Amino acid sequence: MNQPRIGIAGVVRSWDGASRTGVNSAYVQAVMGAGGLPLIVSPLAGPARAGAFLDAVDGLLLTGGEDVDPALYGATPSPRLGAVSRERDLFELALVREAAERQLPVLGICRGLQLINVALGGTLWQDLGSERTSHLIHDPPADRGARSHGIRITAGSRAATALGGVQLRVNSLHHQGVRELAPALTATAWAEDGLIEAAEGPPEGSWLLAVQWHPEELAEGTVADRGLFAGLVREAASRATGPAQAR
Ligand code: MN
Repeated sequence: MNQPRIGIAGVVRSWDGASRTGVNSAYVQAVMGAGGLPLIVSPLAGPARAGAFLDAVDGLLLTGGEDVDPALYGATPSPRLGAVSRERDLFELALVREAAERQLPVLGICRGLQLINVALGGTLWQDLGSERTSHLIHDPPADRGARSHGIRITAGSRAATALGGVQLRVNSLHHQGVRELAPALTATAWAEDGLIEAAEGPPEGSWLLAVQWHPEELAEGTVADRGLFAGLVREAASRATGPAQAR
């Protein structure tokens, strides 16, 4: 079978004295591990090329990284706001909009969840530690693969289906989070402090699932950890071979 093509939205970083663009290797490895063909796109492509890029893929992965610019959800910047990239925000907002038009399967991770929520009209906590009362620390000083808190998942949801259960311990590498959830999304997983850790689109719509943790960094690769990538690749495969996608 052909490998479904999974578009992965990348970042721009300064590294070794040069501006470079790409994605964390863990995303590429996770997509390949699930049987997908990773195709990386740079935010330098710009919003006007978002549709052309999505024409070339069967599914989309939105990755972690910068804070989303609070201006995009009508808030003024908190003193604890981290680095933002208007270039990346605008490119990924265009990707979300165009992916919806194409009914492409979408998996969002960390910033990906936050960006999708903002794209659909939701708002964010700009800095959980200073803005939201909780007994949990969502950005503990730990390895990227360290499982630092539990989540509970709605039975029967897309998340539960992909993860194969309703409880999981996850890593947590975020200082922002979903504040008001976009009307088009349903929360389907929460941390022990009530923070939304997964949200998804309506069951009758195209496959849209986003999580706040980083499954790509859970290197031991249990079935649950691989399940989100497996779900994305499976949906992309069915779309690639379905009647609506005759090429
Ligand atoms: Mn968390």
